[in-house]
Amino acid sequence: MGGEGLYWIDNHCDVLYQLWKRVKEDCSFFSNKQPQENLFLSDDSPLDVSYNSLKYSNVFLQNFAIFVPDHIPQTGKLGVALKQIDLFYQNVEPFVPLLSCRNGNKIEEKTRSVLSLEGGEAVGKDLSILRLFYRLGVRQIGLTWNCANALADGCKETRNGGLTNFGKEFVKEMVRLGMIVDVSHLSEQGFWDVVSIPDVKVMASHSNCRKICDHPRNLTDDQIKTIIELNGLIGITYVPQFVFHPYQEATMEHLLFHLEHIQYLGGEDHLSFGSDFDGMENKLYGLSNAFDLPSFYRVLSRYFPKSLVDKWTYRNALYFYKNSLR
Ligand SMILES: [Zn+2]
Repeated sequence: MGGEGLYWIDNHCDVLYQLWKRVKEDCSFFSNKQPQENLFLSDDSPLDVSYNSLKYSNVFLQNFAIFVPDHIPQTGKLGVALKQIDLFYQNVEPFVPLLSCRNGNKIEEKTRSVLSLEGGEAVGKDLSILRLFYRLGVRQIGLTWNCANALADGCKETRNGGLTNFGKEFVKEMVRLGMIVDVSHLSEQGFWDVVSIPDVKVMASHSNCRKICDHPRNLTDDQIKTIIELNGLIGITYVPQFVFHPYQEATMEHLLFHLEHIQYLGGEDHLSFGSDFDGMENKLYGLSNAFDLPSFYRVLSRYFPKSLVDKWTYRNALYFYKNSLR
């Protein structure tokens, strides 16, 4: 273990996308062939998040996102998402089993996982596919990536459209199933449409504060306050572009401003982290993979009391997952 008294929950990583990219290079798209080696498990894993780094940093809950890139045509998106779910069950889940919500709010002995979908394109326009994703273990969905789809507009659509009629039905079905709606890449209007749906469980898995760093991927103060009111969760992310402007000068210490700002808005019990490991091109110096979490923990402990740091690193997220999922 890398840090004394350290526990960690991370709300977003793109390991499955990285595994899929390598399968795609090794083998044909839908072949049965698996890569020779399980890169998640290997001792010298090139991944930011690996079995070894999760163990080293005492990450006892890791959220794994399925991500289908924009260039895949609509007819191929479901297949790519299913391939990533298969990679999860072949390479990750045997070692990091899915979170069980029946054990109350306690730390489990084994590192656990949550399976999520980043971007609803793979579901197409069919609620039965949504229900099948649920049966395959997916418990959280971000409705969009950056662009528009059948559900809503993403955060980079300048027209800032909200949820479509189908998007509203989709979220209602997610609520019925007991799934978490991730608003991290959603347009602002889409956010307001989601939070107006009764009983919605809302999380921004990897977003920061727009007040500190003005970027459409970050949350406005009104959005932050609403997530707090709804008992939701915000995962502070390490992507330099969302941390500081200009991003080339972003440092680990700039994350503290985002934490302090949400704390100031009343978010003490709703703060958490969503690294975006394995999903970002640029990285913060000293916080480039899950092995670096103990040193980040030491930075946090230098500025904030342990009771607060523990809430942010694991307690809040654990409470949120255990209370949102069934
Ligand atoms: Zn993302």
